[in-house]
Amino acid sequence: MRTIRVNNFARLNHDHLLIRLLKRLAYRAGCLSAASFLFLNAPCYASFSGQGSDAYGLVRTQAPVSTDRAKQSYEAPHKKLAIVIDDFGNDMEGTSEILAMPVKLTIAVMPFLRTTERDARLAHERGFDVLVHLPMEPNQGKPEWLGPGAIMSSLSDSEIRQRVEQAIDNVPYAVGINNHMGSKITADPRIMSIILDVCRERGLFFLDSRTNYRTIVGKLCREKGMPDIGNQFFLDDQYNLPHISSQMNKVIAWMKEHDSCVIIGHVGVPGTKTASVIRSSIGKMGPEVEYVTLSQFVRQQNGEELFRGMLP
Ligand SMILES: [Zn+2]
Repeated sequence: MRTIRVNNFARLNHDHLLIRLLKRLAYRAGCLSAASFLFLNAPCYASFSGQGSDAYGLVRTQAPVSTDRAKQSYEAPHKKLAIVIDDFGNDMEGTSEILAMPVKLTIAVMPFLRTTERDARLAHERGFDVLVHLPMEPNQGKPEWLGPGAIMSSLSDSEIRQRVEQAIDNVPYAVGINNHMGSKITADPRIMSIILDVCRERGLFFLDSRTNYRTIVGKLCREKGMPDIGNQFFLDDQYNLPHISSQMNKVIAWMKEHDSCVIIGHVGVPGTKTASVIRSSIGKMGPEVEYVTLSQFVRQQNGEELFRGMLP
């Protein structure tokens, strides 16, 4: 038994020296992948060899650096995609399909509706983010599309503040607010300033669902030291499958050129189609893209400090 053990040690020692030599050669040749491979495998050899601290020390001090490099270059998903799905709260079509999605999503729930509380709770239990999907007056559109508690331009400052606070209280687990419709309000500095002040007081961010190119939300957020977040794409502004698929293809192309993206889809008429397109995007997006919740996205874009600074 003793002879066998010595022979094994001798062989492992030989292997270990060979590994060290190869590591050095790989680094000198600037061959990161070869060096990374060796470092990633080094702990196995080190533990098998049972040798002195020099062997272990080499692995301990250098392996993490090289592993990080390897992950950044080849493995780690370093691009962030945040998908927000609007119009929850009324058991709309696609609700269960979206809530069953195996990637992180953000669920925007309208206040004061039949399934507001249930949808927010289910989304939270899935590890998704919840937003208050706040109805706001549009330039055009029917008032009945807005839903209860809508922010109208005819309201006084105190009425606006009260409606925003009540909406936040009505949607459990909310980490932010985005607008349902709202092309008129997102261009109104008086009203948006009140809404953003309430957001900041409550530690919430505001996502501008860009329904109006005249929006002043981004400018106001920057002035108030809040994260400036808006969407790059609407997935389902037309309800048919070819359009939704084509929008997702644009997102896939965008992610090849950019590090981040926020997109918005809907439950309701396009709900099940939108869900199926999101599900089939998962295999096409590329390993460098991570599906994140909006709060993860905000932290990544703005840093923990700014985010924490917003908290009460
Ligand atoms: Zn909406």
